Amino acid sequence: MNTENPLLASGELPAFSAITPAHVNPAIDDVLAGFRKEVDRLTADPSARDFATLLAPLERWEERLGRTFAPVSHLHGVKDSPELREAYSEALEKLTEHGTELGQNRALYEAVKAVREAPGFDAMDLARRTVVEDSLRGFRLSGVALEEPARSRFKDIQNQLSKVETEFEEAVLDATDAWTRPVADDELAGIPESARAMLRTMAQEKKLEGHLATLKGPVVQAILTFADNRALREQLYTAYNTRASDQGPQAGTHDNSARIETILALRHEAANLLGFDSNAHLSLADKMAGTPERVLRFLRELAAKARPVARRELDELKVFAAAELGIADLQPWDVAYASEKLREQRFAFSEEDLKPYFPLPSVMQGLFTVAERVFGVKLVERHGVDAWHPDVHFFDVVDHDGTVRAGVYLDHYARSGKRGGAWMDVCRSRMNDGDSLFKPVAYLTCNFAPPSDGKPALLTHDDVITLFHEFGHGMHHLLTEVDWPSIGGISGVEWDAVELPSQFMENFAWQREALDLFARHHETGERLPDALYAKMLQARHFHAGLFLVRQLEFALFDFRLHLEYDPAEGARVLDVIKEVRRDVAVLTPPSWHRGPHAFTHIFSGGYAAGYYSYLWAEVLSADAFAAFEEAGVFDAATGARYRKEILAVGGSRPALESFIAFRGREPEPDALLRSYGLAA
Ligand SMILES: [Zn+2]
Repeated sequence: MNTENPLLASGELPAFSAITPAHVNPAIDDVLAGFRKEVDRLTADPSARDFATLLAPLERWEERLGRTFAPVSHLHGVKDSPELREAYSEALEKLTEHGTELGQNRALYEAVKAVREAPGFDAMDLARRTVVEDSLRGFRLSGVALEEPARSRFKDIQNQLSKVETEFEEAVLDATDAWTRPVADDELAGIPESARAMLRTMAQEKKLEGHLATLKGPVVQAILTFADNRALREQLYTAYNTRASDQGPQAGTHDNSARIETILALRHEAANLLGFDSNAHLSLADKMAGTPERVLRFLRELAAKARPVARRELDELKVFAAAELGIADLQPWDVAYASEKLREQRFAFSEEDLKPYFPLPSVMQGLFTVAERVFGVKLVERHGVDAWHPDVHFFDVVDHDGTVRAGVYLDHYARSGKRGGAWMDVCRSRMNDGDSLFKPVAYLTCNFAPPSDGKPALLTHDDVITLFHEFGHGMHHLLTEVDWPSIGGISGVEWDAVELPSQFMENFAWQREALDLFARHHETGERLPDALYAKMLQARHFHAGLFLVRQLEFALFDFRLHLEYDPAEGARVLDVIKEVRRDVAVLTPPSWHRGPHAFTHIFSGGYAAGYYSYLWAEVLSADAFAAFEEAGVFDAATGARYRKEILAVGGSRPALESFIAFRGREPEPDALLRSYGLAA
């Protein structure tokens, strides 16, 4: 039976047309059983204590598991059905269980530790040493290296944490769902038709007539940005920013205050058990930033540059609001509204003006040309590849010497059964274990509007940026030269650095030289007009200072909250946020504001003491791109160095080392400030 299971076949690419939901679990069961048997054998065999006899077999099994499940999770994303969803969930549960089992396998930990302590370790190459060190770090951070009773206490904390973090998130969801407010017809002034339609849908969902405001993100954003009615904006702002707290219209009903205390106390204790001073120190154990001092210095330096600009922007906005909108005392619920009015007055252009210049075939051609000039690789379409839909294209990634390095599936259009958004995902990882060489293969998935009325698919500029972003992740995976899957491509890269290659690629979508390769009117062939290009750039920089100080406020709050936690004093949430605002904010919200109580990113979403990563990665990508601005946007030598030092090495060495190898120095924030239009 298994020889007929396409998920277990050894072909170069998955046989998509042959895969059915019925194949999923037999294949996963088969691989997991083999994997388990191998782990038992490895831990029992005292001679399996070097890289070739312990780590290499583990990498092979990870690769095998990855290649078996990747097409399943991909199909779940792009061609879902009730049967597949069921098979997928069942398989995912098994994989999660397997992951936990491996991470908690004390005998396996001891075996890897023996490899680390053996005399041969120092003679291994960097990649092999990194596989060993990463594996050990994973074991340490999962608590398995602890002695009793600490090990049991650590496990206990993890269970409690996952429970309270889930409750935190549920309280936010419940508070979000529980509040609604009918919007009378005369209160709709200023709100565009698309947003009104959303308010009507909200009403219909509650079996009501007319328009209904809720606390869903897009609704709040639309009302705060467009509603002329100031009282309506204030009510939405108040209800939204007091969700799940002791304040506002739902005060006390879903209050997260006690949960925040519990979460911070448990995280702190867990970090201490693992030997870290705080949860912030723990968070940095596998991140590029390394030390709390470096994170704080980074955020404060950025704040020092951004704050004066934000102040200027706010002052200007106040003058505009008073003179043009009759708002003499600009309040937090007026800021988005007044900003939008100012933006419209200054340089409004609609996405519709730009779309004719971004026909998809031409954008793809431009993107491939950028890849060829910068990375020295050609994307050559291979026809007749078995895929999941006729619209899917497959490309070989061919190096300048003619070697086929990798392959990539491109699936552009929105369809039913396909998850929204855009993403890059791994189909096959590169592995070169001495016996066999597997080439990396990726999926690039987007949800662009398909062609209609005989016109090519026309993209918005946001779509173009998204495409470049995901293609950047793709290049990272596809151009890896690392032999071991766990540290090749995007795998094993510190998480505050993994967005470097993707955000880096976005920059090309803003460059005249790159736009000139593809931004041509689909009917007239005319290049993107200078006036329109200038407006795009201005709009990109509009209120960048205000945006940055807000991000800095979130990042500093998150980081200091976890860093400074002291069991004797408790969480001090409101004190910390107050101090942070005093340092970086330009507009202080009212004292009843309770943003932290719904800050799911850090209390339930895995960004604890890691919110700074957004800005950190932006600094890396802007600074890396600045090397191209200095040498020429398509400079081949700079491109080759970038490919060699950043893309090819993946997670095989620390990201900071890779960055320095490429740039000749540590990252500096100037390029980011320039890209925000904030350079001094
Ligand atoms: Zn990304």
